[in-house]
Amino acid sequence: MWLLEPLAFAGRLLSALGGQLGSLWDSLLPLCLWLRATLGLAGSDRAQRQPGGKGPEGARREAEGAGGDQPLTPTSVNYHFTRQCNYKCGFCFHTAKTSFVLPLEEAKRGLRLLQEAGMEKINFSGGEPFIYQRGEYLGQLVKFCKEELRLPSVSIVSNGSLVRERWFKSYGEYLDILAISCDSFDEQVNVLIGRGQGKINHVENLQKLRKWCRDYRVAFKINSVINRFNVGEDMREAIKALNPVRWKVFQCLLIEGENSGEGAVREAERFLISDAEFEAFLDRHREVSCLVPESNQKMKDSYLILDEYMRFLNCQNGRKDPSRSILDVGVEEAIKFSGFDEKMFLKRGGKYVWSKAALRLDW
Ligand code: SF4
Repeated sequence: MWLLEPLAFAGRLLSALGGQLGSLWDSLLPLCLWLRATLGLAGSDRAQRQPGGKGPEGARREAEGAGGDQPLTPTSVNYHFTRQCNYKCGFCFHTAKTSFVLPLEEAKRGLRLLQEAGMEKINFSGGEPFIYQRGEYLGQLVKFCKEELRLPSVSIVSNGSLVRERWFKSYGEYLDILAISCDSFDEQVNVLIGRGQGKINHVENLQKLRKWCRDYRVAFKINSVINRFNVGEDMREAIKALNPVRWKVFQCLLIEGENSGEGAVREAERFLISDAEFEAFLDRHREVSCLVPESNQKMKDSYLILDEYMRFLNCQNGRKDPSRSILDVGVEEAIKFSGFDEKMFLKRGGKYVWSKAALRLDW
């Protein structure tokens, strides 16, 4: 437009100067139209290259922006149905602040809501999930999720101390993965951390659980929290001997109201390690192929956590702020307040081969 107006003015001037000059304007007109078309095209090309333009890059950005408004899918959910535990780990980030456990039928109703909203994997955690009704409640939920909801993956995280062989006999077939928390292969360190009750040797117990997992066809996983007391340990040989499908290695994390600050049941500050210390631990264990590292940054918002009331816990502010319960407002409404970072979930490898059928294990 900025070029057309002076040209139009020139045209009017030429017309005013007479018919001979008018013919000159007639010959200028196609040139004017050509310029307009060329500039117009150049403008649209420039728009494609600029942020927000409609080129492939702009369209992708637009789609990503739109993605932010899409409802989150609870693909993988961690249900901490009890906060009770028989251990007293000094850095525990889901502490025994209540003794509440939902009635079994209510828990099943919530799990069905999650499955209808897109859940593919459920992980039962605590507290210690085997503590309530000696694992019977947990077994019922595991069976329900596999048999009725047909979830591709059902897993448990446990400290392992209360698991009995008869549980595997009743429910092992419905369980894909059993993850056992083990922070050290030195029993003295476990005692320092708070993992242990005196008579149970955590390391010996681990060997027994490994065998049961093999016998009853359950994939075996190990979770370790790297902290001040185990950061110098070399766990390579012990982990390789146990041969888990996955060894999840977390950096000890502070959560206000859980293991730090006001209202907390623990004071985990003395367990903390720096990022550099965590990296040094990872470097030492680089040859262990099943190791999956999780720094504080990766861990904080990349889990969908449900508490004992089936409320999503939002960790964005370094605390666990609860949403309303999915039993009251549904999954879509509650998950909006979860603070879940779906991109980080994918970046940390949150979606992996998680059903034992697909794992094709050499038991
Ligand atoms: S075993 Fe787990 S739930 Fe129990 S105190 Fe230790 S960290 Fe907390």
